[in-house]
Amino acid sequence: MTRGQEYVASVFEKVKAQNGHEAEFLQAVEEVFDSLIPVFDKYPKYIDENILERLVEPERIVSFRVPWVDDKGQVQVNRGFRVQFSSAIGPYKGGLRFHPSVNQSIIKFLGFEQIFKNSLTGQPIGGGKGGSNFDPKGKSDLEVMRFTQSFMTELQKYIGPDVDVPAGDIGVGGREIGYMFGQYKRLNGYENGVLTGKGLTYGGSLARTEATGYGVVYFAEQMLKARGENFAGKTAIVSGSGNVAIYAIQKLHELGAKVVACSDSSGYIYDENGINVETLKQLKEVERARIVQYIEHHPNAHFTPSSSDNNIWTVKADLAFPCATQNELNDADARALVRNGVIAVAEGANMPSTLEAIDVFHAAGVSFGPAKAANAGGVAVSALEMAQNSGRTAWTFEEVDSKLYNIMKDIYENAAAAAEEFDAPGNLVVGANIAGFLKVAEAMSAQGVI
Ligand code: GLU
Repeated sequence: MTRGQEYVASVFEKVKAQNGHEAEFLQAVEEVFDSLIPVFDKYPKYIDENILERLVEPERIVSFRVPWVDDKGQVQVNRGFRVQFSSAIGPYKGGLRFHPSVNQSIIKFLGFEQIFKNSLTGQPIGGGKGGSNFDPKGKSDLEVMRFTQSFMTELQKYIGPDVDVPAGDIGVGGREIGYMFGQYKRLNGYENGVLTGKGLTYGGSLARTEATGYGVVYFAEQMLKARGENFAGKTAIVSGSGNVAIYAIQKLHELGAKVVACSDSSGYIYDENGINVETLKQLKEVERARIVQYIEHHPNAHFTPSSSDNNIWTVKADLAFPCATQNELNDADARALVRNGVIAVAEGANMPSTLEAIDVFHAAGVSFGPAKAANAGGVAVSALEMAQNSGRTAWTFEEVDSKLYNIMKDIYENAAAAAEEFDAPGNLVVGANIAGFLKVAEAMSAQGVI
């Protein structure tokens, strides 16, 4: 065993012993650790400084009660979290997720990934994440408002424009950010840089709504270019139908691909004419409806309810974009995609592919763009929103979009170069992990043992 292998294995044992019950967190840690062995062999000073063991321990975790009153007058209680994982390269930055599956493991996996993702954007932002097990589905606007106001009443103690800047994630979009911004302002006065993903009338950035979806497509464009390919005439499937999926589909269509399927947790839609983005937006952004209703507008399309042996990954396509949620794509799904001739997979969601699925893609020569690189466009434009807020200015859509394009291209090039340098050419998982890690490690090293 090399010194790097021994070090990484021993830290992983400690992480398992202390966090054994946090399956998602361990999965995210394992993926990163496997990639970093050659880095420690090359830079043993990071072993001496015990960078890894410090990095996997969050700087701070806050867990809090969120009481609120529902429309029937009944008192409800949810659990809120904020994980402030690493401030090595900037203030904590990362979204808030409202979903019944949220627990400490989920928030820690997301916060851990965010450190590397944010580093890859080239922007000065550290890693954080938060959320609650609150389920916005089926709740009235007033219930969502009462919940988010209560959530922010506690969260505001820990955040600030130069301290920790939350944004959206699953279940947290423009509506929730608006209510949270209002409550923060009521308690602390106006500070426009305290949240990103804000509405355009009160300090939001143009192109932030589109950024994650557009970004994953810009990243995939680079992956295809490396294979001598482009989007023209390609078919694609995009799982999910939320913010990331909608704008990924829109950009794919703009660049000449045809998206034939998308989904929500109840099942998937197949539309051989290409998914109609306007219908999707109306259903999901305005009506907050289920995706099955798409077929009422497009009777030629089919809806298939989700089941264990028939999901969106069985649809034949050249390209696949998992844009729904963690672990939505396992090794059997990956094999189905490979059998159907998929050539590239880019992750719009966070950790949608299991470790086994990633192995299947790599073994089959499929170009694979891991989440922390491919979906970094959202947080990258959040950092651009922070910059505009600090400068008391607002850039045009085209300006932000072209910055986003260049950031995604740089992330691809940096990840591909790191993979090459550390003997894993073409492996963007290894490349992204190493490129993201090196900046954080150097910053930690320079700042002493803290
Ligand atoms: N939730 C998004 C992510 O996973 C965006 C975070 C942000 O804009 O701060 O990166």
